Amino acid sequence: MKKTISEVDPFWFGGRPILVRADLNVPLASGRITDDRKIRASLPTLELLLDAGARVVLLSHLGRPGGQPTPELSLAPVAERLSDLSGFRVELVTGGHSPEAFASLEAISAGGIALLENSRFLAGETANDPELAASWAALGDLFVNDAFGVAHRAHASTSGLAQAMIDRGAEAVAGLLMARELRFLEEVLRLPERPFTVVLGGAKISGKIGVISMLLPRVDRLLIGGAMANTFFRALGLATGRSLVEEDRIELAATLVEQGGERLVLPLDCLVTREVGDGAAPRVVLRSDVCEDDKIVDIGPQTRAQFSDMIGRSRTVVWNGPMGVFEIETFAEGTLQIAHAIADACDRGALGVIGGGDSGAAAERAGVVGRVTHVSTGGGASMRLLAGDSLPGVDSLTERE
Ligand code: ADP
Ligand code: MG
Repeated sequence: MKKTISEVDPFWFGGRPILVRADLNVPLASGRITDDRKIRASLPTLELLLDAGARVVLLSHLGRPGGQPTPELSLAPVAERLSDLSGFRVELVTGGHSPEAFASLEAISAGGIALLENSRFLAGETANDPELAASWAALGDLFVNDAFGVAHRAHASTSGLAQAMIDRGAEAVAGLLMARELRFLEEVLRLPERPFTVVLGGAKISGKIGVISMLLPRVDRLLIGGAMANTFFRALGLATGRSLVEEDRIELAATLVEQGGERLVLPLDCLVTREVGDGAAPRVVLRSDVCEDDKIVDIGPQTRAQFSDMIGRSRTVVWNGPMGVFEIETFAEGTLQIAHAIADACDRGALGVIGGGDSGAAAERAGVVGRVTHVSTGGGASMRLLAGDSLPGVDSLTERE
């Protein structure tokens, strides 16, 4: 087990500079933040530190600037939103690693946040340059890694900084969000209360093979929807028309069908369309009746009812991947019903965990986030954990005493 920020005596923080790595990598559209969930999820750790009188030096990346300062990917809008949401003064520190930039950190009095400009403006970030990590480590007395969303990457501001901190005799601990993510995602693997149901969907099997092979032997039911189901249909010898299929994974799907037996549940019916677009007129067909020109875009009503019923009778539910092309309203019903079924199960005391960027967005759209036990902020990182992999951003932290 790794040490967390909750195990540090709050009196110790008073007046000290504390380095925090958060995942403030929010989606932007022409300079505006379109979804601030990651900023909101980072607030508890920042509030804990600032309430205890710490001076917070905050690090995050934004987008993929490729090691070059890129004005469109400045953290400036994030600094503004963070200040609005938290009520704390947030000062954006630009100018990379010039002595002037660091000097201005001294200006941060107790109760304020110095947000360092986009860590990926520096080439050493993704290269995990130890010198860059050491220069950051020198800025604080403790490192708090709260960036679960990038915990699967070994970068200078994540695992590198933790190592540099430990090398200079200080500690690197998990923030509140990181600790919460680990608690729920590890718990569902270690000792899930049964029945344990996993719902998987999304575009591809290929990115989720590790998760499927880790979970299939542990679950009572693995429900498959989304385009992922199409590849399984082909493994059953069914026609899928013009639907998205991973031809090179059909054999793998056939193996999983055999291994899974009755634990693996595929859709009985689907929503199909000739045109994918807003004006489309979709039809419901049995999975054996998909025509040559059809595209499968959602699970059908029989499947929605069957999946919802199985979710409703479960004590632990994990969901990753939409059931259809939920970005288009006409094809979103299956995904939204799954989100509601999980929230209903949680209302009755089940443990529900939603992982994945698109699934989290779907849960938000369904308006159920507050009712589900845990909605993960990390797509890739949550998938790695569910596949049983360890995360560099976690491995590098100080062990609990
Ligand atoms: P998450 O981000 O939750 O892990 P994924 O990224 O794996 O989910 O998958 C989400 C994508 O899968 C969405 O863009 C959605 O449109 C797409 N998708 C789901 N079902 C289908 C389908 N039947 N045909 C085409 N795309 C689909
Ligand atoms: Mg996605």
